[in-house]
Amino acid sequence: MIKVTGENAAAIEAIIQKIAKRVVFELLSANRKYPLFNSPHEAWGVMEEEWEELKDDWKANKVRSNGHLDAEDEAIQLAAMAIKFILSEEVRSQEVTQ
Ligand SMILES: [Mg+2]
Repeated sequence: MIKVTGENAAAIEAIIQKIAKRVVFELLSANRKYPLFNSPHEAWGVMEEEWEELKDDWKANKVRSNGHLDAEDEAIQLAAMAIKFILSEEVRSQEVTQ
């Protein structure tokens, strides 16, 4: 187990920033193709599909030449869809209160 300590905290934070950028890029690109979720149920369906794809990639355990797993891309997509769900609910609740 790798602990986040004073020694490696900056390096870990840099990796977190890199991952967050990938998630945001994925979300922005999905939003250019598809509208926000119409309902929590729609978000559930999309997230479940990403979850199933992530599980398939985990089972396949395919490692790329750069040392990364295929499953990482599906995890990024699932994270992006989780944020899209929260975003969709946030926008809907703002519409309700306006
Ligand atoms: Mg996917």
